Amino acid sequence: MLIFRKINIKAMTHIDAPSVKTQNEPDVIPSAKTALLRGLRLRCPHCGGGKLLRGYISQRATCSACNEELGSIRADDAPPWLTILLTGHLVVPLLFELMKHDVFSTKAMIAVSLAFSLLCAAVILPRAKGVFIAALWLIRRNKYAE
Ligand SMILES: [Zn+2]
Repeated sequence: MLIFRKINIKAMTHIDAPSVKTQNEPDVIPSAKTALLRGLRLRCPHCGGGKLLRGYISQRATCSACNEELGSIRADDAPPWLTILLTGHLVVPLLFELMKHDVFSTKAMIAVSLAFSLLCAAVILPRAKGVFIAALWLIRRNKYAE
């Protein structure tokens, strides 16, 4: 009888042990570096699991993994500003190198620089939006955590 009780208690303890995060546990705010890297990877800055954007650049209202509210964060013109800044700093040195070595004709240089500019902008814009959303989310979380 005593052995039977020990087995039952052990089995119940195993079943009742919490395996997922409960609401009573403190909400951990990730470090700034972690949150910004998650934004750069287009993931939720809070958990890193859910996607930050829907489609190419549409912002999700909430995280699909942790249900963190993300829709009210407005990055506005900051992502296009950073995209233009970085694209210009990548394309202009390429143009100077192409002009210096006289590799292509003028029309080919315009075509190459235009294609490279479009590629850079297409790659950078969603990541810039992710970084700014993560930064704004971090500022808001730290403001309300105090
Ligand atoms: Zn999340």
